[in-house]
Amino acid sequence: MKVLVINCGSSSLKYQILDMTGEALLAKGLVERIGIEGSALTHEKTGLDDKFKLITPMESHKEAIGHVIDALLDKEHGVISSMRDIGAVGHRVVHAGEKYASSVPINDSVISALEECVELAPLHNPPNLLGIRACSELMPETPMVAVFDTAFHQTMPQEAYIYALPYRYYEKYKVRRYGFHGTSHKYVAERASVMLGVHLNDLKIITCHLGNGASVTAIKRGRCVDTSMGFTPLEGLVMGTRSGDLDPAIVSFIRDKEGIHLHDVIDVLNKESGVLGISGVSSDFRDLEAAVEEGNERASLAIKVFAHKVRFYIGAYIAEMNGVDAIVFTAGLGENSARMRSVICSELGNLGIKLDLVKNNVRGKETIISRDDSKVAILLIPTNEELMIARDTYRLTR
Ligand code: AMP
Repeated sequence: MKVLVINCGSSSLKYQILDMTGEALLAKGLVERIGIEGSALTHEKTGLDDKFKLITPMESHKEAIGHVIDALLDKEHGVISSMRDIGAVGHRVVHAGEKYASSVPINDSVISALEECVELAPLHNPPNLLGIRACSELMPETPMVAVFDTAFHQTMPQEAYIYALPYRYYEKYKVRRYGFHGTSHKYVAERASVMLGVHLNDLKIITCHLGNGASVTAIKRGRCVDTSMGFTPLEGLVMGTRSGDLDPAIVSFIRDKEGIHLHDVIDVLNKESGVLGISGVSSDFRDLEAAVEEGNERASLAIKVFAHKVRFYIGAYIAEMNGVDAIVFTAGLGENSARMRSVICSELGNLGIKLDLVKNNVRGKETIISRDDSKVAILLIPTNEELMIARDTYRLTR
């Protein structure tokens, strides 16, 4: 069976189509600037060198998905001969609130539940819903599954997810820690168990998803027990442009000093902070590393602040789980930056965490990078959220 995986953002859409016999990636692509001048689709068939590029106005997600289907059907670049070849569609959905702790087949009541979650994720859930609606109009007969970023974290105990606010805010508004990147944390934890040859039930793992958005998760016996992102993806680690943890009193202080609205301060915390804010250089760690080479001290400070926070969470989660067997690095930065992994793991030797600097000199492949005498295994595992979405979609629809 072939499964189409769709990940809709507000003006972009990523997709992959996989043949679930052997879990082979057949093609993948990206539509950018949906509803904006310059809409473009880039489609890549596995095994073909040249990419198929289409630049044409796309006013809506429905139009964009129509062009994706055309690309999938294309004589040269396509991988299906009829729309019926798509056995199911898996949608990445960011927020399921407390409604779903695992993936679900999509029906009207699921869509209503996700609409209720829009106020919890106003930037993310609306485009996810647009993608679901567009597919159900274009492929009404094809079953669809929703796979949630929040689902894996639903196993957290109350003491990890309740904020120390008046309890009525949780009761009335569901203000609590939800956590994100759940599909990625779950995938790399499962791979770590396979790579170490130890059952998940016998492992305490800390997974570090370090990309433009970044989060750390504590996983005990295969279940999430804590995670650094919170009510929204703004909490936790320092990120590309997001502040992560800070004293909430800073928000009104800056609002008053700068004479701006509260929502503008939150915008600054989401879009102008993080390593971009500290360095004034870039949110991209490649640019920061290049700036450090040129002696830029604020870029160097940004990297140190980022690493400090990751180390802070690793320490906290070791305490919370009363130990750790494995630490996993994943996502853009975690998979590619030997320097960042090395800065994070420095000074952790007393906790039995010893990085092998030679083995660490690698990028983007599954491998163990700890020293042989390290009590804790350190692993590099490229994440694959699309494969997880395709697997759940296949399992729930076949
Ligand atoms: P993601 O959100 O997972 O796509 O990750 C994007 C982040 O990974 C960006 O901030 C990039 O700077 C970072 N990244 C990707 N490749 C590298 C690399 N070779 N060295 C350092 N950072 C990288």
